[in-house]
Amino acid sequence: MLQSKLFGKTIREAPKDELSKNAQLLIRGGFVDKTMAGVYTYLPLGLRVLRKIENIIREEMNAIGGQEILMPALQNKKDWEATGRWDIDVMMKIKTSYNKEYGLGWTHEEVVTPLAKKYVRSYKDFPFYLYQIQTKFRNEPRAKSGILRGREFLMKDLYSFHNSEDDLDKYYEIVKDAYFKILERVDIKNKTYLTYASGGDFSKYSHEFQTVASAGEDTIYICDKCGVAVNEEIVKDNQPECPECQNKKLRKEKAIETGNIFKLKDRFSRSFDFKYLDKDGKEKPILMGCYGLGPTRLMGTIVEIFNDKNGIIWPKAIAPFQIHLVKIGGGEKVNRRAEEIYKACLDKNIEMLSDDREESAGVKFKDADLIGIPIRIVVSEKTLNNNCVEVKRRSKDQVELIKISELNGYLEN
Ligand SMILES: [Zn+2]
Repeated sequence: MLQSKLFGKTIREAPKDELSKNAQLLIRGGFVDKTMAGVYTYLPLGLRVLRKIENIIREEMNAIGGQEILMPALQNKKDWEATGRWDIDVMMKIKTSYNKEYGLGWTHEEVVTPLAKKYVRSYKDFPFYLYQIQTKFRNEPRAKSGILRGREFLMKDLYSFHNSEDDLDKYYEIVKDAYFKILERVDIKNKTYLTYASGGDFSKYSHEFQTVASAGEDTIYICDKCGVAVNEEIVKDNQPECPECQNKKLRKEKAIETGNIFKLKDRFSRSFDFKYLDKDGKEKPILMGCYGLGPTRLMGTIVEIFNDKNGIIWPKAIAPFQIHLVKIGGGEKVNRRAEEIYKACLDKNIEMLSDDREESAGVKFKDADLIGIPIRIVVSEKTLNNNCVEVKRRSKDQVELIKISELNGYLEN
């Protein structure tokens, strides 16, 4: 991609009303545009990152048997009344001009449960797992955390259906592992703790995936012996205790809830009278699990963690491009070399952003640091006089000179 053609520009100052670091950096880098509090447009650079995160999630959901569907955001009032959740505050509601009311989904049990009921009757149909990556809405009273807590955001929600508690328990563990695989692939596993949280009125606990970050809105207590944590919301009498080893010496941290998993059991199947016929011909209750993970929130979390005073430092797996080619000066030799390197990368399917703009070296370097692509290659008269280009990793300070003849080999590694 030629940077001169890229829609969206870097800007020096983030909007004054934007307090969160993730949104400040993403707006300044030209990744997102804020339309109002908690609502953002994803520009070409930002959408590339978001799609990569989505695809990592999608691959890991498919690997554990998930089947992707797409349910509507616009939802039926009657189904929310059936579960008694129509009047929960987080629901955004719409009243049409002919006085009909709809909800905008913040979760999808009220859609997926009646859906499954239409197609499933027999014990032979179990288990099955449906997921989607879709826009959700929340009536947030305060949306101050950038894309960490939007009023409109992207969510991956997986729902599992089982005909025994054993089977639900087993799959719950499988999803835990898949979540850690996703977190590993986006480079935040070593900062993320499986965290015991409230299980509502139907399970003792649910589990959250809490990523330690100073911008986090949650407080967790980490047991370094077990590598798990407990959410402050379930700590009784101010004495946090590890739910696994009863250790009382826990470390307090701020954290961002990047995912959560929940055993719903028959909470929703009961509301919709969704049962199945067992081998003996008797009707039995269906058990469900639900598993959420937000691609937009993950993106915000990653920006909160991987940055320095100059900008974002994207992990390789989700960077918008792998290489940022920066051409300094406009001599014929420099132009020709830059074009050759750009074409060679296109041929090899290496994702490259080429800064072909007529700007000063200072402006180009500042923008490259702000955008945060993992590798920066500089082509200038000076480097070419040594038959070299200058290569710098965004995460490191050192600069190395690589011979043009060795660049191809270097890029392939
Ligand atoms: Zn412990």
